[in-house]
Amino acid sequence: MKIPWNRVKIVATAGPASNNYEILKAMICSGLDIVRINFSHGKHAEYRKTISLVRKIETELGRPIGILADMPGPKLRVRGLPGGIPIEAATGSLVKISSGKISLPNELNISHPVLLKALRPGAMIFISDGKIRIKVLKADRRSALCKVVAGGQIKLGAGLNFPDIDLPIPSVTSEDYKNIKFCAALGVDFIGLSFVKNASDVKRVKSFIKNFAHKPFLISKIERRFAIDNLKEIIEATDGVMVARGDLGVEMPIERISIMQKDIIRKCNAAGKPVITATQMLESMIENPSPTRAEVSDVANAIFDGTDAIMLSGETAIGKYPVESVLMMEKIAAQVERKYEFDVHTREADKRDITDIISQSVADIAMDYSVTAIVIPTLSGKTARVVSRHRPSAMIIALAAGREVQRQLTISWGVYPVLSARQHPSIVMDTASKFIKSSKLFKKGDRVIIAAGTIDKGGDLSNIIKIAQV
Ligand code: PEP
Repeated sequence: MKIPWNRVKIVATAGPASNNYEILKAMICSGLDIVRINFSHGKHAEYRKTISLVRKIETELGRPIGILADMPGPKLRVRGLPGGIPIEAATGSLVKISSGKISLPNELNISHPVLLKALRPGAMIFISDGKIRIKVLKADRRSALCKVVAGGQIKLGAGLNFPDIDLPIPSVTSEDYKNIKFCAALGVDFIGLSFVKNASDVKRVKSFIKNFAHKPFLISKIERRFAIDNLKEIIEATDGVMVARGDLGVEMPIERISIMQKDIIRKCNAAGKPVITATQMLESMIENPSPTRAEVSDVANAIFDGTDAIMLSGETAIGKYPVESVLMMEKIAAQVERKYEFDVHTREADKRDITDIISQSVADIAMDYSVTAIVIPTLSGKTARVVSRHRPSAMIIALAAGREVQRQLTISWGVYPVLSARQHPSIVMDTASKFIKSSKLFKKGDRVIIAAGTIDKGGDLSNIIKIAQV
């Protein structure tokens, strides 16, 4: 059996370097599975253009392409400086954050002055991705006096991180909600939620989209200390996760990044929730046609860790080599997958329902009986996702009941999502058998498992495993 693409999925960010038909198509033909649109930059007209280009290419190529719209969340920034002139903040000097008018040369305003109420002496504030670090000495709800621990130039618009503070502002902003509505109306498959800190953040968005005709899959970005503390409940509430190493490496000690990455991936695998590893994977390819050895190793190690997907940001959004970056990821993934037996952590998962039990058995049979493919008729995609978490060497062919489910499976490791009609449980097995007989993916003698783990509303069970030979 010929596997049509890599098991690990590739996500790439569209931007000025790639937001046109030719480059997008070349990236997709080089192995791209999901196009990410960063809602921090750009306008609705541009997002609309990217979405329609992706759908056009998808139709031309006849394979599903996911679209991930990444919400900015609250943008915490330096909003006012005396005369707009940057502050030269020397290490050891003092700066003052004020909610009101600024008059001193070392005084500044921030975008969310309400944060001043949460500041306590000893709390750290990071400016410009942590290049500049200040420590709160005194805070009185309207202002905070801070000592510069690591100095530098504080510019207007510089980003702020408050790693020690449980921010008294919502992680999903009113602007995000407007964007989510816009995205759902355009059939966007995945929504990235930035700065999520607990399960309630995710549940609020879930309830917001509850009655939408099209419900995007929610990807919670783990980039805050509080998200790490509440990881278990976030994973339970969300549809998928992103290890957002950019902000995570600012909010948490950078030397802990790879440990946190492994831990997040392991927990997502156990729960059957897809996980994307993001940021600076091939960063040097923004400028150069080939990556560093360390970057190649980073991509490979994320795959070894068990990530479902690997992501490109600046490399494809603003870089000089967007297509080459996708191709490089594709080549690294192909090498890793050829050589490596995947460690699975799913035995840690509780066997909770019939789908979990079916998936465990399917993975065992696939390994013991040298099966070439596992065919899964699926209504919601769940059975395909929980089988995927066992990382079987057999290809997982999901017969997805509808376009939405098919596209949302583009993120799941090892899954080849095929569009199928919604079937009554009593005939799903026949439909799967017919697919196997007619598909060019199989050759005579291939061993195949057909598995379905859903229960329909009428109580009809389709929790069936069938082993067949083509
Ligand atoms: C990150 O912080 O790693 C990330 C992916 O988020 P953003 O690109 O929105 O900063």
